[in-house]
Amino acid sequence: MDGVLSDITVDSDKIARIEPIGPDYEAQRREKGDEFFFALPSLVNMHTHSAMTLLRSAGSGLPLFRWLNEAIFPREAQLTPDDIYRGALDACEEMRQTGTTAFNDMYFSIGSTLRAAKETKLQANIALSVTDRNCEDKQLFARFLDSIHHKFEESGCSFSIAPHSIYTVSAHNLQMLADFAKEHQTLFHIHLSETQKEREDCLRENGVPPVVYLDRLGIFDKVGSKFIGAHSLWLDPTEIEILGSHHVTAVHCPNSNLKLGSGYRFLYTELRDAGVNVTLGTDGCASSDNLDMVEAMKVMSLLQKGIRNDPSVLPADEVLKVASNNGRKALGLPDNSIVEGNVADFFLISTNNRVFKNIEYINSTPTQIHQEFLNRLIYAADGNAVSQVIKQ
Ligand SMILES: [Zn+2]
Repeated sequence: MDGVLSDITVDSDKIARIEPIGPDYEAQRREKGDEFFFALPSLVNMHTHSAMTLLRSAGSGLPLFRWLNEAIFPREAQLTPDDIYRGALDACEEMRQTGTTAFNDMYFSIGSTLRAAKETKLQANIALSVTDRNCEDKQLFARFLDSIHHKFEESGCSFSIAPHSIYTVSAHNLQMLADFAKEHQTLFHIHLSETQKEREDCLRENGVPPVVYLDRLGIFDKVGSKFIGAHSLWLDPTEIEILGSHHVTAVHCPNSNLKLGSGYRFLYTELRDAGVNVTLGTDGCASSDNLDMVEAMKVMSLLQKGIRNDPSVLPADEVLKVASNNGRKALGLPDNSIVEGNVADFFLISTNNRVFKNIEYINSTPTQIHQEFLNRLIYAADGNAVSQVIKQ
């Protein structure tokens, strides 16, 4: 851990003890080629539609609006709650196997996703995806939420509301849903400025870009830092300032944005410096094809270096923080740094994995070993390198 060979003792769901092993013994074990493991805090997938494992790679080659209308919405109309449970279960297993133990979901039939998360012992915020069609019967909507409330108690999961986007939910309904989020103290999770088309349509119809439009509707005043803008890709400086002043969370989904040709100039540095909590997600398997957050970290880091012509931007330790701590902060989960007394929620990678072979241990400081390991994890490995996840 942190480049120091240590024994980590877990008792129930807590890290009870971390005991460094003496340097002589460490050298002996390394010389013999004993297997040991790197330990890192588990990751948080901050934007996904987990049941979309059922639609993996659907509509490949189509741009977002055709992809939604031709490949996704017609297939989703056929899904039953049981289908959604099976799809979400596959997703939860995939996430757990690749080092992710918490996720922020947006879909329908949220009880099905909750069941899958509970069975695989993942933590989740599960949002009901809403379009204008769901809002027609407000009584039904309220009754539905009342009925699911008790299912979430003691599950380690929470529920929230997710207006799908500004182009599928009217101004009136966006305000109604923000009132709901404020009243129930839930997150307000929305696809935001995902494509240039979304931005241009909003400018044409409302005279202002999406974030200014939401601000004028009073959405940020109502939900504040509980606002989660998935994608947040096409933004101008005024919009970034609005998002920063409310300390909202933005979720970059690089693989999905690239696959759908939505864009790649995510303004990481500007958002971070403005006060936005920047996090990372894969999006659903229909657009990102997998739920591998290690792969997503690599793509995010490489894109930032590429668009700025600067290899020092978003180094391995910083992108790891984006993919772990920042997500936990957004979901209100306790810190899972590997420290005595903290919750035990981390993953292990074997030194026998080929990507981590031949690291120079003997003549390196713990910090150098840790950096070397992190660089290999982000740039050379993918989520399949994860040997085991430790989480109750
Ligand atoms: Zn999405």
